[in-house]
Amino acid sequence: MSDKASLIDRVNRIYKRISDAAMRADRNPDEVTLIAVTKHIPMGAVAQAIDSGLRHLGESYIQEAVRKIEASNDNQSVTRLSWHLIGHLQKNKVRQAVGLFDVIHCLDSLELAREIDLHAAKLGKVQRVLIQVKLADEHTKSGIAPDMLPTLIDDIATLNHLRLEGLMTIPPYLDDPQEGRPYFRQLNHLRDKVYSMGYNNLGLSMGMSNDYEVAIEEGATMVRIGTAIFGQR
Ligand SMILES: *Cc1c(COP(=O)(O)O)cnc(C)c1O
Repeated sequence: MSDKASLIDRVNRIYKRISDAAMRADRNPDEVTLIAVTKHIPMGAVAQAIDSGLRHLGESYIQEAVRKIEASNDNQSVTRLSWHLIGHLQKNKVRQAVGLFDVIHCLDSLELAREIDLHAAKLGKVQRVLIQVKLADEHTKSGIAPDMLPTLIDDIATLNHLRLEGLMTIPPYLDDPQEGRPYFRQLNHLRDKVYSMGYNNLGLSMGMSNDYEVAIEEGATMVRIGTAIFGQR
């Protein structure tokens, strides 16, 4: 098989597994968006993924994303792509990020929210964002603590150029994907809590190559998958 044929084959198998996991949880598979994570993947393979029909792409690093987003914009024949920023966002990179990304998954402080709002206003844009929540006590990971979430959400609601679209989490890496289940369930419960504050229509960005089926069983609406599509980075 050509590289492209085997990529299509892997993606089709992922769609099948997404669909099976959704059905196991009595959910509609269409509720789940596959985000192809292209970090450290060369442009050639990214172009193949786009050619094969993937429309949601995730990047962790701004510098890398600039090249890829510009290259894919040059190809006018493709229908509109959505680029998702899934890596940690530093304050001094916000201006660039707002210019490049459709959705920012890693909002984790009011300070960052204000900065995003400011630059989105300058661009005449409403920036779609997800709040990253840190569910385990890992100092190496970013994200807001669950008990800080309600205040952050109420504060964000006052910013006119931000639209909150959901919650995101990265659980600790665990060999057995079943061990991730309590984290995914906890993010879903946090969303219930936010709904009880009067908000609605929030997605859950959770699940990666090793655990996306479990995440979908627990309510994921966006799964971020790199290795299972492109192979080891
Ligand atoms: C790299 C990355 C992914 C994809 O991980 P895989 O295990 O390759 O599927 C998903 N989410 C985030 C935040 C990442 O940094």
